[in-house]
Amino acid sequence: MQVALAFVDDDGNEILLDAEEAFTLFALTNDLDSATVSACPTCHSRVLAAVALRDLLVDAPPHPRAGDLEVLADEAPTLHVYAVDLVTGCDHQGWRDPGSEEWFEVVGDYQPASHTED
Ligand SMILES: [Zn+2]
Repeated sequence: MQVALAFVDDDGNEILLDAEEAFTLFALTNDLDSATVSACPTCHSRVLAAVALRDLLVDAPPHPRAGDLEVLADEAPTLHVYAVDLVTGCDHQGWRDPGSEEWFEVVGDYQPASHTED
């Protein structure tokens, strides 16, 4: 599958979504707004509050990957999980708050495992 969006926790656990899954997830959750701690203004990369993300997914209309994402959020070793936009090709230059520093520290050079298999 062509990975469009990755959700990663501080242990490196990852849930990978293709473009359609990512599109519908953002559509069903109002762009993950209520769980977003900090977000790049020009792509979908963001820092998410794990508890709020789980609550948001439980309350949102059903999404085929919601169960996987709920497990990731439930088992995250820290308060946050990180969304990585893998299709926009953004360098996040406009993202300048403390959340962006945390995001870069955890997933700034992230590549999904599936990219190394092909
Ligand atoms: Zn960006």
